[in-house]
Amino acid sequence: MIGEKFRVNQNILVTGGSGLVGKHLKEIIPDATYISSKDYDLTDLQQTKDMMLKCKPNVVIHLAARVGGILDNMTHPVDYLEQNILMNTNVLKACHEFNVDKVVAILSTCIYPDKVKKYPMVEDNLFNGPPTPSNFSYGFAKRCMAVHIDSYVKQYNKKWCYLIPCNLYGEYDKYDEHNSHFVSALIKKIYNSNDEIKLWGTGKPLRQFMYGGDLARIIKFIIDNNICENFNVAPKEVYSIDEIASIAKKACLKDKLVVNYDNTKPDGQFRKDVDSSKLLSIIKNFKFTPLDSGIKKTFKIISKEWNE
Ligand code: NAP
Repeated sequence: MIGEKFRVNQNILVTGGSGLVGKHLKEIIPDATYISSKDYDLTDLQQTKDMMLKCKPNVVIHLAARVGGILDNMTHPVDYLEQNILMNTNVLKACHEFNVDKVVAILSTCIYPDKVKKYPMVEDNLFNGPPTPSNFSYGFAKRCMAVHIDSYVKQYNKKWCYLIPCNLYGEYDKYDEHNSHFVSALIKKIYNSNDEIKLWGTGKPLRQFMYGGDLARIIKFIIDNNICENFNVAPKEVYSIDEIASIAKKACLKDKLVVNYDNTKPDGQFRKDVDSSKLLSIIKNFKFTPLDSGIKKTFKIISKEWNE
């Protein structure tokens, strides 16, 4: 592969290595160092510097974040703001101090404005309005990281960049009731029921969902090929929550399940779909895992674990 030459003599450090994306990345970049909060608390600057001193990376893939569902975001806004600002600031400051050549950081399409005039959103829309109220603090903390990286690029000419992925799912997601993301929570509900499942909201909001392994493949590509661009990462398909529930029922072979909606619960942002033309101009012919096959694959792996 053309890009592999850039990885010779690379010492790659991955923060957030125990999370959904980190575990997918470990499957395809096994020789990197994967760090979790149990190794170093990145909200603490000294611990972050200790990590750099010990690992001496020249490439940092910064995945670590306080990540969670709508309820947790709404009930712990201070934690989302402070922990993410601290982690991102400490990691970037330490990368600067230790002369890390390449940083790839991960934002999220959740941080885009609550509403814009035209969808899908492009990268230039990032600051065209406030993030949605249900993850306002997370949104602002992540936006600060974009400004922070852009500032390092301007002031110090760093080859650092960030990706903006849509919502993820996969076998490495958390499957507990309070922390899982929508598709993973849906898979668990389908697994646990034979007659009906209940979902929050109206079923109408529109979403893009990506299999976690797809994001890992893109991160690997930009490291291998020394790419330094900021771009959205999402499949072009946009589905309503209700359509996703139907796709998931079929993929999990439970077509007959009835889906009911509890519209006393919030829908979250109505839509936040993004345009991935820039990604596809850089990684030509990139093929996203279709939602039905990604759910099928996830269900097969995770239900086997649950059955054991
Ligand atoms: P995740 O599964 O929730 O994992 C979070 C990771 O961050 C874990 O490794 C966790 O370590 C680590 N971490 C949390 N607090 C830390 C601290 N104080 N010090 C050190 N490490 C800490 O997250 P993910 O889903 O893989 O997400 C990876 C990145 O993608 C994040 O930046 C997230 O914002 C972004 N993203 C995620 C999604 C999604 O749907 N999942 C969508 C768009 C963007 P422990 O395991 O020890 O807690």
